[in-house]
Amino acid sequence: MRILQVSAEIYPLLKTGGLADVAGALPAALQALGAEPRVLLPGFESILGGLKDAETVAVLAPPGAMAAAGVRLLHGRLPACGVDAYVIDAPACYLRPGGPYLDANQQPYADNHLRFALLGWTAAQLAGGLDPRWQPDVVHAHDWHAALAPVYLAAAAETQHRPRTGSLYTVHNLAYQGMFEARHFGELGLPPHFFAMHGVEFHGQHNFMKAGLYYADRISTVSPTYAREIQGPEQGCGLDGLLRDRAGVLSGILNGVDDAVWNPATDSLLAANYDPDQLAGKGRCKAALQRELGLARAPSAPLFCIVSRLTEQKGLHLVLEALPDLVQRGAQFALLGSGDADLEAAFRTAATAHPDAIAVKLGYDEHFAHRLVAGSDAIMVPSRFEPCGLTQLYGLKYGTLPLVRNVGGLADTVADARLETLDVDASGFVFDEFSTAGLLQAIGRALALHRRRADWKQVQQRAMRRPCGWDAAARTYLGLYRRIAP
Ligand code: ADP
Repeated sequence: MRILQVSAEIYPLLKTGGLADVAGALPAALQALGAEPRVLLPGFESILGGLKDAETVAVLAPPGAMAAAGVRLLHGRLPACGVDAYVIDAPACYLRPGGPYLDANQQPYADNHLRFALLGWTAAQLAGGLDPRWQPDVVHAHDWHAALAPVYLAAAAETQHRPRTGSLYTVHNLAYQGMFEARHFGELGLPPHFFAMHGVEFHGQHNFMKAGLYYADRISTVSPTYAREIQGPEQGCGLDGLLRDRAGVLSGILNGVDDAVWNPATDSLLAANYDPDQLAGKGRCKAALQRELGLARAPSAPLFCIVSRLTEQKGLHLVLEALPDLVQRGAQFALLGSGDADLEAAFRTAATAHPDAIAVKLGYDEHFAHRLVAGSDAIMVPSRFEPCGLTQLYGLKYGTLPLVRNVGGLADTVADARLETLDVDASGFVFDEFSTAGLLQAIGRALALHRRRADWKQVQQRAMRRPCGWDAAARTYLGLYRRIAP
């Protein structure tokens, strides 16, 4: 089974969120099952830098306004990701100051529709035989950036009267849809009648996410609960009607954790390694973290952490409101994150007010994320919505008990610690109401359990032993690919 994974990011070369982790880990897990995945990526600087033994597969001549001189498709190895890759070498599109989606002033690039249409269009060319040595049986497109792949596949089947290569489209976050003004549709080289309610049109605009959801043979998202939630108006981001229509081909598949990257027994970034049977190393990680952050060196003070993009989605204003109470009750708090300027400033102010108990590191720091997760006692993810969530999975694996809201993938992965679950399946703390009171109530329960050292350790060990590799997810994806391309 040959699968073309189409993504804008891939760990460890380019990452802005969980999408990159999935794109980086899924191919290896599929290879372990005997499948033959390749990835297709835009030629961002870090991706071109990671591509080895590159050769030109073809000079591309994309339609519409995508056409730019000198666009080539490269094929090579990405040793850092352990996978074969196609990379679109289009310097005018992808080699720019700023991030992959936003310019240096944090504004979306004006031609994002063209930059990412090129990704979807190229996927369809590969499906059509652009590389005579390798042709995918299935195209698997991720998030809005790759969402036009199923659309161009449908267009090619229609205009060239040939069988349509099957596709799976995975939503990693329904809130980011890739919406563009209708006037840009004509620049994409798609048949005009695709701009319709039964097509890519959405309230008079052109919506990449909707297009992917409409044209893909099957769709999936990253947890069973999120797959249900997005079929309702509250979390459907306007697309719940379409998702209900397509419920018969919609699956929820939980992400895994890449054991080669996140494993406290082997993690070389930690002050000490540990496992469920030998937890002493975790104490050394905590002492090292308190020292590094300038927090009071208090081994018994419960230390809560967060690793997150700072956005409205993540419920961080609840944390800000809960912090005085948390500190007053003798706990410590450390945050690693970047994003919203007001949230950054508010966390910085909180840290200045309580330097012994609150530490804040603004920015993106993969290595520090490991030290923070390992050295903390609990990790908070109080999101308003959460498609899957990865940091609570790292928390489970590192014996850093997750404190999460009862939504999306958080609800699917963390079992609340209550008296009646303590000996059964408890692995963290779960709260329902999206409010400071709801969060504080869960913090109170976490603090109570932390005082009962034996019970805390029992929950910690169970959390750490919970299977969370990529194997189960890869098997489920493979099952879907087989249904798409029998
Ligand atoms: P989302 O995709 O919504 O950002 P996830 O929890 O699914 O949320 O994935 C976030 C990923 O990004 C995790 O791997 C997390 O460790 C990482 N991450 C987020 N913020 C930072 C940061 N400031 N520094 C390092 N890693 C971060």
